[in-house]
Amino acid sequence: MDCLFCKIIERAIPSSKVYEDEMCYAFRDINPQAPVHVLVIPKLHFASMDEVTADNSKYVAHIFECIPKIAAAEGLSGGYRVISNCGDDACQSVKHIHFHILGGRQLSEEMA
Ligand code: AMP
Repeated sequence: MDCLFCKIIERAIPSSKVYEDEMCYAFRDINPQAPVHVLVIPKLHFASMDEVTADNSKYVAHIFECIPKIAAAEGLSGGYRVISNCGDDACQSVKHIHFHILGGRQLSEEMA
């Protein structure tokens, strides 16, 4: 499968790892939009929020258990934002579901 994030999980493409376990992988965004910008991805490939099903939702639930731990490890005690872009209108550029963790500065009240 020609998926950038699958290749990152397989180490075929290098990344800056932040966290990993049996279900997910977290790494630094190559084009950070904030002092802390981490991407969290499931080790199972599915494209986006539109493809969440009863069979794979445990990966999403697990990622949401990991996000507060990753945020704490990154020192985001003042807060942070979690974003998942889904589809073209949201400018999703990589078709492997992922969750952006953004923080380390006061974020804008604007979300879109
Ligand atoms: P999205 O636009 O929501 O699909 O987010 C995709 C994110 O992946 C963007 O923020 C990119 O900067 C990031 N990205 C693309 N290629 C890489 C890479 N090789 N390593 C780390 N982050 C990447």
